[in-house]
Amino acid sequence: MALRSAQEYIEGIGKIHSKIYLGGERVTDVLDHPTTKTVIQANAKVYELSQDPEYREIMTAKSHLTGEVISRNLHICQNTKDLEMRAEMALLTSQKLGTCNYRCPGCDVLNGLASIIYEIDKDLGTEYYKRLMDFTRYLQKNDLAMSGGVTDTKGDRGKRPLQQDPDMFLHIVEKKSDGIMVRGAKQHQSGAYASDETLVMPTLAYREGEEDYAVAFAVANGTEGVTFICQYNPYTVERNTEADIHQLGNPIYGQRETSLVIFDDVFIPWERVFMCGEVHYTQRAVMRFAKMHRMNCGGACKVGFADLIIGATRMMAEFTGLAEIPHIITKLTRMAQISETSHACAIAAAHKGVEEPEGSGIFLPDDLFGNVAKLNTCYGFWEIMALAGDIAGGLPVTMPSEKDLDNPEIGPYIEKYLKSAVSARKRMRLAKFIQNWVAGLHGVGTWQGAGSAEAQMLTLHRIFDFESRKAMAKELAGL
Ligand SMILES: Cc1cc2nc3c(=O)[nH]c(=O)nc-3n(C[C@H](O)[C@H](O)[C@H](O)COP(=O)(O)OP(=O)(O)OC[C@H]3O[C@@H](n4cnc5c(N)ncnc54)[C@H](O)[C@@H]3O)c2cc1C
Repeated sequence: MALRSAQEYIEGIGKIHSKIYLGGERVTDVLDHPTTKTVIQANAKVYELSQDPEYREIMTAKSHLTGEVISRNLHICQNTKDLEMRAEMALLTSQKLGTCNYRCPGCDVLNGLASIIYEIDKDLGTEYYKRLMDFTRYLQKNDLAMSGGVTDTKGDRGKRPLQQDPDMFLHIVEKKSDGIMVRGAKQHQSGAYASDETLVMPTLAYREGEEDYAVAFAVANGTEGVTFICQYNPYTVERNTEADIHQLGNPIYGQRETSLVIFDDVFIPWERVFMCGEVHYTQRAVMRFAKMHRMNCGGACKVGFADLIIGATRMMAEFTGLAEIPHIITKLTRMAQISETSHACAIAAAHKGVEEPEGSGIFLPDDLFGNVAKLNTCYGFWEIMALAGDIAGGLPVTMPSEKDLDNPEIGPYIEKYLKSAVSARKRMRLAKFIQNWVAGLHGVGTWQGAGSAEAQMLTLHRIFDFESRKAMAKELAGL
């Protein structure tokens, strides 16, 4: 069974009894709760897309481990074509869902981690790579949904892990003959409670003395000691109280749902431990994950979101009779320019990807173009949101509810005063969709996901070859 159906995925998750809390209450049925259900539906759609012949090339790959056709979400990229298809998967799933492909961070952790532990094994004679490949075979064979746990809570960012509450960074608290005990938390974990597994890796470059923090492992949902505390915001309240989901901005797949995942002395058997104390490799581990994730997150996933915003905004301009006005055309074109620039950088990052480390067979994207993709998106997405708000007018933030439209006493007023070239209901539905993008969680989410702009600035400044550029200028200037 290398490819599960959406139904098989749902049935599988239904059998796992994870400890999940939302709004202070225990979620007893993850499949049925109005908010957690959106994550299940999004994942189910991704399973469905993998079985659709139209998307086979993007959504599936041939496993280098088993030779079987598997979900690309569980594939380790073997060439630049794989990298390009990986990015295209992020684009496609964003266009289809308007929210996360929740298996995306897990895929990028798998690729980044495989690359670094291949190197660790080669240098130190450890057997992490073989363990990770055994685990990957298991994932692929059962087509499991896996999230990626990278971001620690970090507490006081000015202090190292041992200068503050030691649990602010996830760490090993005990080593046993059969495994390790870990404690800490990972925050902002995309869709983690609707996964079968989570692959955890370090968040930071650790130093000597911080060996307990240099840890990577896999943990199955439902494992004793793991608790998911879901994000909670006005959109959560809206969804939890709204009887008709069609009156919500993204009716089926909702917001990007995350949780704070607590690891309260969780036992991890050795066969699931993929790094244990190798502090000198943690910086490279983070960088290799980031190479994958910035290409996919900045240059593909958010391009898919931008496509939805651009499409909705263009439609709104048609609804309100603005589509042919010159400044509206300029603004819509600028939106397309921003998002296609990021997309081009992702494709360039994939095409210029290289085997890393040599001999591993693992391909990672070009660092420069991947970082530029994400950095461009960090700034560009705000501008896209602003331009959508400009063209759509104030309605996305001032509109009444469709319930008012349905009220016989005031409904006729709404219909009369909010109609345009189309009915009030049509315009309000679209305004609500735009509200979901421009007046909610997506601005900060896009800026921070895969690291804030400063993380990409630092990388860009480090890897950009300023010296060669100086030499070019020097030669022509006759210096
Ligand atoms: C919607 C969403 C989904 C996400 N999904 C996942 C996921 O599935 N898995 C996962 O592991 N993570 C996930 N993330 C986490 C994401 O990678 C982080 O939000 C991001 O790396 C920033 O970390 P932070 O939120 O702790 O912010 P902070 O680290 O507090 O950053 C805030 C600001 O402080 C700056 N800063 C922080 N520390 C320092 C320092 N030491 N020196 C100088 N400046 C500093 C940063 O550059 C930034 O400007 C997700 C985030 C979002 C918003």
